[in-house]
Amino acid sequence: MLVVMKPAASEEEIRAVCEKIQAMGFRAHPMPGAQRMAVGITGNPGPLDPELFEGMAGVAEAIRVSKPYKLVSREIRDEDSLVRVGDAGLVVGGKELAIIAGPCAIESRDQAFRAAERVERAGARLFRGGAFKPRTSPYSFQGLGEEGLEILAEVRGRFGLLIVTETIDPVNCDLVEQYADVLQVGARNMQNYSLLKRVGRSKKPVLLKRGMSATLDEFLMAAEYILFEGNYNVILCERGVRTFADHTRNTLDLSVIPAVKKLSHLPILVDPSHGTGKRDKVLPLARAAVAVGADGLIVEVHPEPDRALSDGYQSLYPEQFEELMSETAAIGRILGRTMYPAVTALKG
Ligand code: PEP
Ligand code: MN
Repeated sequence: MLVVMKPAASEEEIRAVCEKIQAMGFRAHPMPGAQRMAVGITGNPGPLDPELFEGMAGVAEAIRVSKPYKLVSREIRDEDSLVRVGDAGLVVGGKELAIIAGPCAIESRDQAFRAAERVERAGARLFRGGAFKPRTSPYSFQGLGEEGLEILAEVRGRFGLLIVTETIDPVNCDLVEQYADVLQVGARNMQNYSLLKRVGRSKKPVLLKRGMSATLDEFLMAAEYILFEGNYNVILCERGVRTFADHTRNTLDLSVIPAVKKLSHLPILVDPSHGTGKRDKVLPLARAAVAVGADGLIVEVHPEPDRALSDGYQSLYPEQFEELMSETAAIGRILGRTMYPAVTALKG
């Protein structure tokens, strides 16, 4: 259930609603909106009577939420959620497209710096790179671990890029959250419920990638775990699903973007790198992702893709990323979306 407060409701009236919910043994989730506050209720075993709240001071109405997911649903919040990253005012889900770029894995300081320099110059404001890599084979490169996180922190200091990096389990999250600006939960962990609960208790925003065979309901339910724990800063990411097609690594499901926009207020990005697995398909699908209404992109870029320790065949050369930036910016403009100015442009 959602208790919608009147625009002029006072702090005390909102507090009284939250206290009543808690006294009933349920959880109250205050959700501020542009016009008014709403308070979501979770943990109730069955439907509640709206009259329990509608007589209270400052309450406009109490609405039953029909979807199995509550906090991520548009029924509970009809405006788009804006997810703030870092403390310099970067927002995901607004008019500006969020572009995250960088190598699949951090391999060395030199590799990370070369990648960061090029993606920053091309206009990306967020840098990606795994320090902990969940790999299909135990013999494949597993990432540099904490050394990789330290390199990422140096990238932030040197280039002013915000850091997006993956956390692979609840214990590992204690370390990763000390370095990351955004905690990535990978496709393989979309239903790792203890990890979802752990990132749900973090103060850092979370980039939640869709599981390889997850339905839209399963994807939104995974996000619900994070919001339920109190972290409302969730960015969804479509990264392709497993199908019978063998011309690509995965099948990028771009139709999920308008479907998510209809059902949820959360922002959603597209990963055309894992979504296709082939370098020559990344640019066309990136263009399509922006056209279909994605709030941004996460793209693998490597200074020397042919020597990459992971996902080289889908990593762009830096020049290709520059092309991607200018073409997606042009498509975004038609739809009223803009790109953030590059960090160097900000510094003047
Ligand atoms: C990645 O971003 O490098 C990654 C492993 O992605 P996914 O979880 O989508 O496979
Ligand atoms: Mn990768």
